[in-house]
Amino acid sequence: MANLDEPLHKVLGDKTAKVLAKGLDLHTVGDLLHHYPRRYAHRGELTPLNELEDGEHVTVMAEVVKVQGRSLTRSPGYVLEITVTDGTGELKLSFFGRKGSYVPERDLSPGTRALFAGKISSYAMRNGRVQRQLAHPQYKVVAARDAAAAAQEWADEIIPIYPTTKGLDIDAIGKSVGLLLDQLDLGPDPVPGELLRRRGMIGLTEAYEGIHRPADWEELGRARRRLKWDEAFVLQIALAQRRLAAAALPAKPRPRVPGGILDAFDERLPFDLTDGQRQVGEEVAADLSHEHPMHRLLQGDVGAGKTVVALRAMLQVVDGGGQAALLAPTEVLAQQHHRSITGMLGELAQAGQIGGAEQATRVALLTGSQGAKARKAALLDVASGSAGIVVGTHALLQDHVQFADLGLVVVDEQHRFGVEQRDALREKVAGGRPHVLVMTATPIPRTVAMTVFGDLETSVLGQLPAGRSAIQTHVVPPERPAFLARTWERIKEEAAQGRQIYIVCPRIGEREGDEGDVPAAADGEDGPRRSPLGIMELLPRLEEELLAGLRIGVLHGKLHPDEKDAVMRRFGDGELDVLLATTVIEVGVDVPNATVMVIMDADRFGVSQLHQLRGRVGRGSLHGLCLLVTDAEPGSKARERLDAVASTTDGFRLSRLDLEQRREGDVLGAAQAGRSSSLRLLTLQRDEDVIHDARAEATALVEADPELRGHPALAAELAVLLDEERAEYLEKA
Ligand code: ADP
Ligand code: MG
Repeated sequence: MANLDEPLHKVLGDKTAKVLAKGLDLHTVGDLLHHYPRRYAHRGELTPLNELEDGEHVTVMAEVVKVQGRSLTRSPGYVLEITVTDGTGELKLSFFGRKGSYVPERDLSPGTRALFAGKISSYAMRNGRVQRQLAHPQYKVVAARDAAAAAQEWADEIIPIYPTTKGLDIDAIGKSVGLLLDQLDLGPDPVPGELLRRRGMIGLTEAYEGIHRPADWEELGRARRRLKWDEAFVLQIALAQRRLAAAALPAKPRPRVPGGILDAFDERLPFDLTDGQRQVGEEVAADLSHEHPMHRLLQGDVGAGKTVVALRAMLQVVDGGGQAALLAPTEVLAQQHHRSITGMLGELAQAGQIGGAEQATRVALLTGSQGAKARKAALLDVASGSAGIVVGTHALLQDHVQFADLGLVVVDEQHRFGVEQRDALREKVAGGRPHVLVMTATPIPRTVAMTVFGDLETSVLGQLPAGRSAIQTHVVPPERPAFLARTWERIKEEAAQGRQIYIVCPRIGEREGDEGDVPAAADGEDGPRRSPLGIMELLPRLEEELLAGLRIGVLHGKLHPDEKDAVMRRFGDGELDVLLATTVIEVGVDVPNATVMVIMDADRFGVSQLHQLRGRVGRGSLHGLCLLVTDAEPGSKARERLDAVASTTDGFRLSRLDLEQRREGDVLGAAQAGRSSSLRLLTLQRDEDVIHDARAEATALVEADPELRGHPALAAELAVLLDEERAEYLEKA
């Protein structure tokens, strides 16, 4: 009897176990059981052959039409060429060997149907056409044609097709899984029987049977439903436990104090808060006055005005005698926050200085690379408590910075921050838990919010401040060269009116391996491509020719932080007309006088990146213009993506689109540490209902039985998940 932890070699023998371990990273019975078929074929149905792509590893079902052997002319030997078809397209199979002795010749006569597995390659034929082939494919005969015609039932039989690896027979995985299934002993079902009955779900053993050897499509459907549920459910149990545990922790309440620095700040605010800002402000204020730490996610589209909400929360904490830390993902953004917060606070940031207001505090900046003297002064202000607000990069809390009394941590623009990192962050604070507010401008689809950020409460800033003008977005395509010429003219016109312009390129372009933050999903989907434009390649052309006479500054990640700060400052102060940059300006940069965003090789960026970049303009009362320069051809996937970005400025719509376009692994991989390995069937695009239901059930179960004492099998499942997650987190750290 095999249970899930049993090593595979005990069940399958050393040889097969070795190949599975090496080629597919499968080590235990559980690993192999969770190695689900990639797809299913019927015997009666052939694989469409013209959809196959070069370099793809495929398993196809096809019928032999022609068998031809010939001796090679230039070298001794014999090649057997077999042509197979799906009824429309053809594929050539070639086997090399000695004449007459070769098995495929006997197995694969015309009319035979078989599975063939191998890597697709292609070569040009004399007539110029391209022939696709499989060299030395593995094969497995499923039957001759007459038999297929005879029995409908037989033709409907479902054949699972597994992701496979070199050195395995075509049906080796199916056979191995069969062996496991025949002697499987799962013990008690981790999901409570009552829940299964109520939701009409099958047992786990039956589900594994159904996904690996389904008798019919209904059985497969039931199996998938159950296994999907488990993936969502165990994850939600983990999150529910985390929420419950966090809610039970003590924290120092920081209720509003009338007449303090927050009130003074509200009085000097130059604009009215939006309804959304007011409402979220209330939610946050209420959280802060509780005896348990706030764990809140604030979502708001680019430009929604999250900073003010965060700053007001920080001031409430300062009024309560505590300190607040604001963590930004980049130095550029940290510096900008420091500048703008100091600016917004004015005399309220000048405690201990002449002209400082009565309720004033100080705002310290801490970055990894600032000068020793400045750093020392800042550290002192932080440790003594005279700085009520501390702005820094995420490194801030890892640097053993001593706070006098840290009450609130605000994490800005953090969509690439997993649950584990958030835990680590909270644990950095000795002697009590701070309140935590996480802000993201990349709108998160509900499903992602329920999983990746499932341990947080969520607030949404749904509307932009009034008086924002629209941003127009245009694609500048290769088939309209005049548009590109017009782009440079337009930049000069804007500059002549005193406006400012961003130009963004995918890479720096001075050396190899720079910060070309090109998303994998955008890579090569429309064929091979030249390397993307670098700012250092573009700079001389701008200076000497395209934008001659304009004041151009350069910003990228390789610059010294002081230089970055200086460039941003000069741009902010209007001393530069053009900022030529990489995506270091992607998030948060706020210069209201900037009106044009030109993105070169825009197709190299993902949808949310483009949306973020576009959000750098149209921030004041001035109209924004965003130009997406591309040489992607009309009709290509890349062009569709750009057209979508041009068609709407609704970040939530774009994020759903983004999720649909990207592969699951990318989303999960980028959005969080871990998890991806435990999600096999569940997809964030399509399974919102499952995730939602699982969340409700998991929350109820954990509230009734926080330690899962009554559910030992479920507790064991959970332990496995948490282990996997921790392992991945450690790998990444
Ligand atoms: P994001 O949510 O993208 O971080 P910011 O907080 O940077 O947006 O705000 C964008 C701009 O809008 C800033 O210049 C900010 O001062 C301004 N702003 C914020 N709230 C309001 C408001 N209620 N009315 C007018 N302008 C506002
Ligand atoms: Mg921001």
